[in-house]
Amino acid sequence: MAIKKTLMGIALSAAMAIMPTTAKAEERPRYIDWTYNNRNEAIAAVSCANIVLSCLKSGIGSYMNDKGFLNGCAKGSLAGIVMSAGEYTATFAADKKAHPITGGLGKLTHDLGVSISDNVMRGENMLSQYQTELGPLTLTFRDSITPKLSITIIPISAIGSNIIVGNKFDLKKSLYYLTPVFKMKDTITIGGMATDGYSIGNVITYKSNKFNKGNDTISHELNHTLFWSKLRFCGDLLHPAPHMAEVEKAWNIGQEACYGLINLPMVINNKTYYYQPHEIEARMMERQ
Ligand SMILES: [Zn+2]
Repeated sequence: MAIKKTLMGIALSAAMAIMPTTAKAEERPRYIDWTYNNRNEAIAAVSCANIVLSCLKSGIGSYMNDKGFLNGCAKGSLAGIVMSAGEYTATFAADKKAHPITGGLGKLTHDLGVSISDNVMRGENMLSQYQTELGPLTLTFRDSITPKLSITIIPISAIGSNIIVGNKFDLKKSLYYLTPVFKMKDTITIGGMATDGYSIGNVITYKSNKFNKGNDTISHELNHTLFWSKLRFCGDLLHPAPHMAEVEKAWNIGQEACYGLINLPMVINNKTYYYQPHEIEARMMERQ
């Protein structure tokens, strides 16, 4: 038992170091109560953020590729709508009446929006390629139904730490949500906060409960995995650096770097947890 506890401590410290996003901690800030009472407004706010950020990303990229800012912004905004529709669909992972595959369908739709936005940013056609991820594998479909594969390391580390602490791989839920899902036995404490679910990159860990077998937690964490998918474009930002375009064909280092930077405040001070952009996003999209 002592060894297992020590291993668990090491793995959790490692998990902290690679930036976890925890769920369901105590002492909520006020905005969370606001999201409970203003569901439609909260969902609309996330959708607006998706549309505005996608407009800017696609618009600036399009401008730099001599295709015009407004042209790129318009297409990027459309991509933001698709992204938001997918994100909303994915929240039904928590709904007892919805088919469990709804979570996975939401993710695929969300990734269509992200792909369109990224394609326009590169000055390409809206549908020049489609990207999605299965854990550490990024699948890139371009002129072929056979995807090109590349990897990310953060999900590999997350899968490793789940295996080390003895969390059980939940094959059924992983297939339903199209992302690796692990089940833990007990609520754990990360950074002084009790949690019944966390995600690292696109790897979800959850604890089952009597209410709906932990699907409410998974729905929240699934939203975090979508945030991870939104960061794929960071790789393109590195391409002007020597050899980076070549490296990125095999390893999406840019996506990992962006994820690390965004989570850095949480690693330095866990009081920032509730105010991280992806935590606010997931709270606003939560189904109660
Ligand atoms: Zn969270």
